[in-house]
Amino acid sequence: MSMNKPPKGDKPPGEDKHPKGHKPSGKDTSAYLEPAENILVFPGFSSSCLFHGTFNRHGGVSPSPWNSNNVSFGLGDNSENIYANRKQIKTALGCKRLVSAKQIHGSRVHTVDESPADDLEIHGFDGLITNVPGIGLMIQQADCQAVLLFDPAKKAIGIAHVGWRGTVADIIAETVFSMGQEFSTEPTDIIAAISPSLGPCCAEFINFRSELPEALHGYQVRANYFDFWAISRDQLCGVGVRPENIQAAGICTCCNQDFFSYRRDRDTGRFASVIGVKKTED
Ligand SMILES: [Zn+2]
Repeated sequence: MSMNKPPKGDKPPGEDKHPKGHKPSGKDTSAYLEPAENILVFPGFSSSCLFHGTFNRHGGVSPSPWNSNNVSFGLGDNSENIYANRKQIKTALGCKRLVSAKQIHGSRVHTVDESPADDLEIHGFDGLITNVPGIGLMIQQADCQAVLLFDPAKKAIGIAHVGWRGTVADIIAETVFSMGQEFSTEPTDIIAAISPSLGPCCAEFINFRSELPEALHGYQVRANYFDFWAISRDQLCGVGVRPENIQAAGICTCCNQDFFSYRRDRDTGRFASVIGVKKTED
């Protein structure tokens, strides 16, 4: 074991989120675990027309190092395990289809405009939006953020995969703009949530001068460590989302062993964040 490993999670979620001297923007509302204990939900998304959740690494069937609820192909895990894990997620949420993005750290947004005959994984996109009921839009993570978006007025949703490259490309703004174009979503109506992801405690970027634009350098909480949760809040506010409508789990995936973390473990799985509009009885 390397001595340079980041600190392990000995603090409960929600504590020590913002190191001394750094003021995060916006208001924080912590997420909480559902009784199943592997689904984290956001209080702001308790609308009866919505299903959602961030699933932690537990409750699946994959062996080490993907143990156990790995949802991603291409990491060495057996596809049958991944199908079983995805099926378990659909059952837990009561959703008919999962549409996931095969993410590339870009800023393209895909609109799902009809219910597919089977689950779909769409290559080359980092944002997914829809207003079709019954479809769970899924982002796959191991330190990157999923930013979940819900427009209760138009009953439309979006989800974005936000790593540092996505932050630089402003995938959050692209996803909000796309909801405006496709569903006439007003940003002021949007409720947003930032999933568990790499926290300011562990987001060390020693090459930040070449990787991050100068406008983001002010988000350093100490030398070389950045608060990407605060950046995402500000990017959401920058496109018109109200600060009081933004909540963050405040859970660092690198500190918290219940989540996959690429930075902590490198060879590991991916966990899932999913959001969808419920199908009404007809
Ligand atoms: Zn951390």
